[in-house]
Amino acid sequence: MEYVGKRALVIGLGRSGLSAAQWLTGQGARVTVSEKQEKESIDERVVRDALNLGITLETGGHREETFLDADIIIVSPGVPLTIPPLVAAREAGVPVMGEMELAGRLVDIPILAVTGTNGKSTMTAFLAALMEGAGLKVFMGGNIGTPLMEYHLGKGKKDVAVVEVSSFQIDTMETFSPDLALLMNISPDHLDRYPDYEAYVASKLRIFQNQGPGQVAILNDGDPRLARVAPGGGVTVLRYGLKAKTGRHAFLQGKKIRVSLPGQREQDFDVTGFRLQGLHNLENLVGGVLAGLAMKVDSQVIQETIGRFEGLPHRLQHVERIEGVDFYDDSKATNVEAAARSISSFNCPVVLIAGGRDKGGDYGPLAESARGRVKTAVLLGESRELLEKAFHGVIPLQKAEDMEDAVTKAFAASRADEAVVLAPACSSFDMFEDYVHRGMVFQEIVKGLAHGR
Ligand code: ADP
Repeated sequence: MEYVGKRALVIGLGRSGLSAAQWLTGQGARVTVSEKQEKESIDERVVRDALNLGITLETGGHREETFLDADIIIVSPGVPLTIPPLVAAREAGVPVMGEMELAGRLVDIPILAVTGTNGKSTMTAFLAALMEGAGLKVFMGGNIGTPLMEYHLGKGKKDVAVVEVSSFQIDTMETFSPDLALLMNISPDHLDRYPDYEAYVASKLRIFQNQGPGQVAILNDGDPRLARVAPGGGVTVLRYGLKAKTGRHAFLQGKKIRVSLPGQREQDFDVTGFRLQGLHNLENLVGGVLAGLAMKVDSQVIQETIGRFEGLPHRLQHVERIEGVDFYDDSKATNVEAAARSISSFNCPVVLIAGGRDKGGDYGPLAESARGRVKTAVLLGESRELLEKAFHGVIPLQKAEDMEDAVTKAFAASRADEAVVLAPACSSFDMFEDYVHRGMVFQEIVKGLAHGR
């Protein structure tokens, strides 16, 4: 598309929106950014940068006219596609795409895309570490932080891009076709933004839709939803799971990951040095190793990266040991499956701190995982009552007013050789800026407790 003189509308003035707006301005488009928030609530630097670029800002709500008048609309990942002016513009035939779709059309290095309900960020960081270990210059970004467009706008040239892709980003893709796409798992999440679970599953599966010959699709077929999926288009399909199974290219056998790529000899990788806790992290690692080999990373580099990789903060992160009680921050466990996997990672009794903003899921499966493992749950935030209903009669409960109260109650309920785990199963926006803020607050309180403050 030729952008000179075109009316381009960017929805959402975050990092993705700003980088898309910047690129469009450079193309000679007349760019407007429409942002729901009032100007005063937006980061001052972002507003200044946007104005310096000559971008028109419409803040404090969306004007339908601007949407209908646009020649092209670029949507930020945080913006639901269901907002009325956007629906109206689409119905009127205005082309709509996301920042990653736009950037994907421009970037000319191989793209590895990681998606799934849980574990994306950690896997993105792992694959980036693998590629770096192989001596490549790596851009790591997408949903994990830096928008792909920022790479395109920047000066440094990299050899490969490893991007985390959310379902919201997939929803605004049309041609995006990664050289390697890894779909790790699917479980209920974001049901506040999709009409139903089927729609969310369909969104995730679209990561493969534009791939073709020479490209690689990797999926975890231990996930019942994914076992039935067969990406087409001549793409190389690789499957993995925890156990050996016909048609699987990688699985775990004892302390080894066994990989057999089509036409290649079988290879084993030792996982004894892998530092991340929990079976789910091993399951993810199987997919990561498979992806590394599919990208022709040297086996020795893969083995070294397995031992070197430390994971990311706020994902089942050990914080302190106080009087024999271990405290873990899994603030990023923002849905039921992640929280269930979190508590299943422990061989000792767990005191669980859960709750936050509800996303419309069912907490029943969490209560089931908690049975026999969680000795007490301390409930926090807006979803306290919903969690209480699900846990009632299954495990003892306490309610907390804030994080300080929750940590105090959890510590009092625990004994030596037990664990206190923050795994909320909910988003953080009822009480915190985001999951990082929630995790930091938890960690500070725990550290204060450890150091007698
Ligand atoms: P994402 O970017 O998809 O949110 P993260 O790497 O940030 O993924 O991890 C999010 C949460 O999901 C963490 O609590 C992590 O422990 C959990 N998790 C990671 N892998 C899995 C998995 N395979 N199944 C369930 N939960 C997982």
